[in-house]
Amino acid sequence: MAHTKYIFVTGGVTSSLGKGIISASLAKLLQARGFSVTIQKLDPYINIDPGTLNPYEHGECYVTEDGAETDLDLGHYERFLNKFTSQSNNVTTGRIYQSVINKERRGDFLGKTVQIIPHITDEIKRRIKLLGTKNRFDFVITEIGGTVGDIESLPYIESVRQLKWELGKDALNIHLTLVPYLNASGELKTKPTQHSVKMLLETGVQPDILVLRTEHPLTKDIRKKVALFCNVDINSVIESIDVSTIYEVPILMKKEKLDETVLLKLGLQSKLQPELKAWKDFLKRLSNPIRTVRIGLVGKYVELADAYKSIIESFVHAGAVNRVKVELELVHSEKLTMDNYVDELKGLDGILIAPGFGPRGIEGKIYAAKFARENNIPFLGICLGMQCAVIEFARNVMNLQDANSTEMKRTSSVPVIDIMEEQKKVTDKGGTMRLGAYPCRLKKKTNAHEAYQRNTIQERHRHRYEFNNNYLEDFEKAGMIATGINPETGLVEIVEIPKHKWFVGVQFHPEYKSTVLNPHPIFVNFVKATLS
Ligand code: GLN
Repeated sequence: MAHTKYIFVTGGVTSSLGKGIISASLAKLLQARGFSVTIQKLDPYINIDPGTLNPYEHGECYVTEDGAETDLDLGHYERFLNKFTSQSNNVTTGRIYQSVINKERRGDFLGKTVQIIPHITDEIKRRIKLLGTKNRFDFVITEIGGTVGDIESLPYIESVRQLKWELGKDALNIHLTLVPYLNASGELKTKPTQHSVKMLLETGVQPDILVLRTEHPLTKDIRKKVALFCNVDINSVIESIDVSTIYEVPILMKKEKLDETVLLKLGLQSKLQPELKAWKDFLKRLSNPIRTVRIGLVGKYVELADAYKSIIESFVHAGAVNRVKVELELVHSEKLTMDNYVDELKGLDGILIAPGFGPRGIEGKIYAAKFARENNIPFLGICLGMQCAVIEFARNVMNLQDANSTEMKRTSSVPVIDIMEEQKKVTDKGGTMRLGAYPCRLKKKTNAHEAYQRNTIQERHRHRYEFNNNYLEDFEKAGMIATGINPETGLVEIVEIPKHKWFVGVQFHPEYKSTVLNPHPIFVNFVKATLS
């Protein structure tokens, strides 16, 4: 395509309307028509990235192949598009200001007053356009975090206004709002949408397409009314009704002709119909499970499912492959004690211990690993989950009572998990962990090798502590072996207990790489193991 087309997705009325899913669904439809598409998330908060945020704030921190700590929406983009994203796909206000201030210190603006307009908005626009031109994408879909009217979103909306003016036919705004249903009067209400569009108009942006989130179908009259009040044509009023799985949304958007309307507005033609066969096959398997399995997800953030988004989605993908419905039992690790862990965990078909940081809930995770090991229950430990399985094995099989991670007990006399050498001098918290993709060599005839069917893999990391290789020989003698090793550093990446039915601990995060079209082999085989 001659020019990259830019689509800006904004939201109004409330947060959590699913801008990320709408963006990913539109991207999927355009991709399925043969276009190259990427999605970018602009987050209006001042942190440089979400790496330093507690998951209670914004949910999981998603890690890309190049080691960027990013918003969880990037996980949706990868899961839908089956394409890697990178640091350039997630920009925060903190990052924008940091680069403008660095330029100011260098003297790039010498003599000038540095201001939100034009300096901050120029930096925002530069980052949006760069993504398109650098990789020659046909479409860049930019999702603006937050809700129209928020003070912190203003520079982004202003940038959208300027870009729409500069790019003309090559840019478009999709505004997502809520149409609430009032039970008492039995009616859908359009007023919040009208107000939200007014607010957008006040900042100089006329939305081109409105996507209305609703619990009930929109009547023709509702669509007409919204079109009339908001200066859009009726075909540009798109219904986004609640569905049982986010993976249905591309199909719904296709029915509502969102992709066709976008192409029409941008003056593009596509004779191809979206090719969604594999996607539909996945949906068919997803909605026709033959069996149900119950897997315990043990973590300390279970009150907020978003904290484990990628893990939960990985089970959806792996469940569909195995034709089973994976029912996740969210188990709060802080509530597991010596006295209750057997009762709390019995009856589960599999146990997963989640990643995490710090000592809160750690002993509960160790009980969960013990229960899985002793009862031959398929087990997957991810990052801290793997480290807990190692500590448990040392304490209860090798009889090393003081075994611990130095993250939890600095003075442990048996530091089976210890800080990585290169981490010892690190003092800054932000962006300083071992991050992103590293290679790992797999041992043959192991669960890992059987899952991947390959000798070398690449997986994403986010940690400071590691398996302490001084103890490796003792572990292997006692029955826990290293089945995946980083070929360059010798770091243990995977541990297994060969005598157990299926017991795998991984130092990396397989959940970041599971997609609809490429379900992650570790999750697929974990779920498979729970079936027998
Ligand atoms: N806290 C552990 C470490 O830093 C595990 C991190 C994680 O689970 N992502 O090594």
